[in-house]
Amino acid sequence: MDKRRSEQFDLVISGGRLVTAESVSNTDIGINDGKISALGKNLSGRKQVDASGLLVLPGAIDPHVHLEMPVGITRSSDNWFTGTRAAACGGTTTVIDFVEPANGQTLVQALNARRKLAESQVAVDFSLHMTLVNDDPKTLSSISNLVADGCTSFKTYLTYDGFRLSDKEFLKVLCSVKEAGGITLVHAENDAIIAHLKEQFRHARKTSPRYHALSRPAIAEGEAITRSLAMAEVTDARLYVVHVSTAQGADAIRSARQRGVNVIGETCPHYLLLTAAELSRPGFTGAKFVCSPPLRSIEDSDHLWQALTKGDLQTVGTDHCPFNYKGQKDLGRHDYEKIPGGLPGIESRLALLYHFGVVPGRLSLNRWVEACCAKPARVFGLYPRKGSLEIGTDADIVLFDPHKQVTLSHRILHEQVDYTPYEGTNLTGFPIKTFLHGKLVADRGEFLGSPGDGNYLARTCGE
Ligand SMILES: [Zn+2]
Repeated sequence: MDKRRSEQFDLVISGGRLVTAESVSNTDIGINDGKISALGKNLSGRKQVDASGLLVLPGAIDPHVHLEMPVGITRSSDNWFTGTRAAACGGTTTVIDFVEPANGQTLVQALNARRKLAESQVAVDFSLHMTLVNDDPKTLSSISNLVADGCTSFKTYLTYDGFRLSDKEFLKVLCSVKEAGGITLVHAENDAIIAHLKEQFRHARKTSPRYHALSRPAIAEGEAITRSLAMAEVTDARLYVVHVSTAQGADAIRSARQRGVNVIGETCPHYLLLTAAELSRPGFTGAKFVCSPPLRSIEDSDHLWQALTKGDLQTVGTDHCPFNYKGQKDLGRHDYEKIPGGLPGIESRLALLYHFGVVPGRLSLNRWVEACCAKPARVFGLYPRKGSLEIGTDADIVLFDPHKQVTLSHRILHEQVDYTPYEGTNLTGFPIKTFLHGKLVADRGEFLGSPGDGNYLARTCGE
């Protein structure tokens, strides 16, 4: 007799279609002590969840979120609890946020402070990327300690005062992170082009939201991505390009990969699904769509979909950075430069990518799970613990109903923000149950978890 059949698991999820990045199969999952302990047929558990007619996925990994992030005089409206609660309801069981060290703070101090702030609040597992804003030798020499401690990814910016690295500094950072075995993330836009255009608009008193997008043209991203790839190539460093929004950027990444550059390209749902036309909505409501890099043309979106389909871009993160329309976005009512930049999206990524990706045949089920779950886990050193559904890994599992009809609205989402950019969008397919370490934390839109359910994740160097 099969030993597993006589065993009683804490929980069995049975009758569903298991989808991973590699396969689709009719397999039951047996869970003990928060881990996947068996895969097979006819498993029996003290608790049994019937997943007939449902897709069973690894909990999704969002590699790019900004929760309670200070920006100018305000901060992103989701705190660690509300943001991760929304993530759980949307089928995301791990988020990776950012640390931005304050002046005079060491990297380790900043990491520990942000980790402490999050730890008691989080409803899903989390980890942190470290931000590097200069090439200070002391700072760079501490990178290897961070990597050894499980903080293996480092964010850089080629634009924004106070964050921007010069090419020389960026090269030094690439080398230091590479030596330590980590990966460098880059926000790539050409700072000088943006500064030049902003100044022109300022003089011409062009202040409405659409000038935000016009001040950051596609070529500013294309140029900066191309330049960052040249520097990654010369240093033979691993590079992760965040929020690719343009055809030019996606093409530059594809050709660099063909040359053997070790680069991963991320895009976001809003670049796939929305365009700059949203910024010209009546009155000031275009401000709801202000983010950097900005929304682009329909040609860019089409191109990004193709890149995702072909694997020229590898991951989808949300860059979730919500600001309320009332009280935050409207700080820029008379000047687009004062509109806090960022869109909400932490909760709807899996469903949007299913409806607009899998349903029309742009993404296979495997490719969908790869882009949202497996690949982010691999790149950032969490695989196979996360993103795989292998035996011995964390029982972070999503039951996804491929037939459920949902009209997206901020009223049904759990994000702490007064709008969603996808208001009124009709979707087929929605996550209905989310398990974190084997515990049911969201069920049909009802959050069942608690603050502190999630753990901080130390990471390996990834692949
Ligand atoms: Zn971001």
